[in-house]
Amino acid sequence: MFDKILIANRGEIACRVIATCRRLGIATVAVYSDADRDARHVRLADEAVRIGAAPAAESYLRGDAILDAARRTGAQAIHPGYGFLSENAGFARACAEAGIVFIGPPASAIDAMGDKSAAKALMQQAGVPLTPGYHGERQEPAFLRAQADAIGYPVLIKASAGGGGKGMRRVEASADFEAALASCQREAQSAFGNAHVLVEKYIERPRHIEIQVFGDGHGNVVHLFERDCSVQRRHQKVLEEAPAPGMTPERRAAMGRAATDAARAVGYVGAGTVEFIAAPSGEFWFMEMNTRLQVEHPVTEMITGTDLVEWQLRVAAGQKLPKTQDELRIHGHAIEARLYAEDADRGFLPSTGTLRHLRLPQASANVRVDAGVEQGDAITPYYDPMIAKLVVWDVDRERALLRMQRALAQCQAAGVTTNAAFLHRLVATASFQHADLDTALIEREHEALDIAHHPASAADWALAAVLAVEESASATAEASPWAIADGWRLTGPAARSITLEHLQQQQTLQVRREADGWQVQGSDATSLRIIGHAGSGNYALQIDDRLLRGDVLHDGSALYVFGDTGQRRYTLHDPVADADNPGDHGGSLLAPMPGRVIALLVEPGSRVARGAPLLVMEAMKMEHTLQAPAEGVVNGYRVRAGEQVGDGAVLVDFEAD
Ligand code: ADP
Repeated sequence: MFDKILIANRGEIACRVIATCRRLGIATVAVYSDADRDARHVRLADEAVRIGAAPAAESYLRGDAILDAARRTGAQAIHPGYGFLSENAGFARACAEAGIVFIGPPASAIDAMGDKSAAKALMQQAGVPLTPGYHGERQEPAFLRAQADAIGYPVLIKASAGGGGKGMRRVEASADFEAALASCQREAQSAFGNAHVLVEKYIERPRHIEIQVFGDGHGNVVHLFERDCSVQRRHQKVLEEAPAPGMTPERRAAMGRAATDAARAVGYVGAGTVEFIAAPSGEFWFMEMNTRLQVEHPVTEMITGTDLVEWQLRVAAGQKLPKTQDELRIHGHAIEARLYAEDADRGFLPSTGTLRHLRLPQASANVRVDAGVEQGDAITPYYDPMIAKLVVWDVDRERALLRMQRALAQCQAAGVTTNAAFLHRLVATASFQHADLDTALIEREHEALDIAHHPASAADWALAAVLAVEESASATAEASPWAIADGWRLTGPAARSITLEHLQQQQTLQVRREADGWQVQGSDATSLRIIGHAGSGNYALQIDDRLLRGDVLHDGSALYVFGDTGQRRYTLHDPVADADNPGDHGGSLLAPMPGRVIALLVEPGSRVARGAPLLVMEAMKMEHTLQAPAEGVVNGYRVRAGEQVGDGAVLVDFEAD
């Protein structure tokens, strides 16, 4: 076995490989780009070497720099993780030439599976079932169209060099074929530098089922059963589970055999995945083979009780596979969800920034959390914005589902937008609950997944209002010893008004403190009594005989309310900023709430630019600066410094241009 290995990757997979090495007593070397100097994988590794600038092309894709780091640190082997150089045959060869073990298959196997058309030709010889189609050399449009006509529509045109869901066109009818072909070839040429395509039958309502395979250098090949990765968006996996719901022992054996035949046909050694597309009938066909460890490998580990990274290390060190096919068994059910820094409600836009708050579920025998980051870390625009993988296990799918829902509700993040709430809704859809799986599940469940169909309830709004008021009161109390004199706490003055925004809705709520809680009145005149306590980051409050518990985070103008059913983010409306827009107030700036004027900032008669500070007032123990809503002239002030003003008092006569 190796004494020291280098991990040519970052994020959760690098951290995950380090964990196995640590358990096996193998020293680890991390590599990092300038964007990752403080990254979690660097902190966890025994040694770390800088390999270049932030863009991947200048760091994690630089085989020369990585090999150099391995030589300098005396690492005997390189684990490529997934992505980056993991399926780069040239890098695998360069490692061999440098006398360093590449923890992956032989370069020849990577080459053989790298091109979809060539791989299909090989698989045909090996007797692996293929989607009906044409994957030969000829590329003339008329010829390909005739092939498509013979296959029968709909067909799928695929770039042979394609990957990541790019370079695919579904064609409904013969008349549309040539235009789709031209557009697919253009995309293939620009994305992969290779316009070669194949044509195959489009399988309706397909499931993506893949088989984990493993080979060693002694001629053994086994499979570790299947994973169902049908829940996808834009051909990218979102949820994965093992075993595949509805799989029969016969079909599992047939798919396992096809997958190991595929692996043997290319002399496979190490971890690989053979991907199949399956029809609702259960019939299945080879799609492609990924010659590396997959993101979703933990679900296989959970149901087989294996550590696939350990297997990779053992096989790379020349050992035999730790188990034979007969010794491998499925135990229970595992589900994985990919937690991403992205805005699922706005086209899955990646979200970057600092994770000012991050709490992930407590790991246990049933819950595994593979994280690439910790609280305080940054999600940069350079790499895949994955935060963590949540993997749950239980004796059956129903129980695993419940665990996943709980785990997702326990994910708390602030600073970047995450898909945790989206995943929570996704796991709860009827289709996923009933294992009605196919690659169109997310589109089909569009309504249930749409955030607009999950508005905050009256109780949610009331809870947020109380937490907003109490959080700002306790923040002020900490800041100033005199804040105890705040009438809010002592005498219970008139109701406090708070304006919150959530999912493009705005509500102004009146919060009145009572002996054992609060009375909250919403914009829509609903009135709720809330009993209990709130403060210093958490709450346990009773509303309508239901106890709501969780954490709360006040971060700038954002209020995050974390609870049993997930998290909601509210924006605390800054009433002063709202007054920026004089709108129908005849050009005057009004006091947004009762308070005291602290300073008048410009000479009456001055011309000011839009956004220029005009007046400072103090309200709710905080200073607020009123800004010019537009370019214009300050005609005069209607108040003096030190003056106490009421809600809506006219403060500044302002004339916008
Ligand atoms: P990539 O290499 O870009 O990931 P794949 O060939 O693995 O491309 O296909 C990606 C996804 O596209 C599959 O998971 C499946 O959802 C869909 N797909 C691929 N082939 C077909 C087909 N013949 N019929 C229907 N859907 C398909």
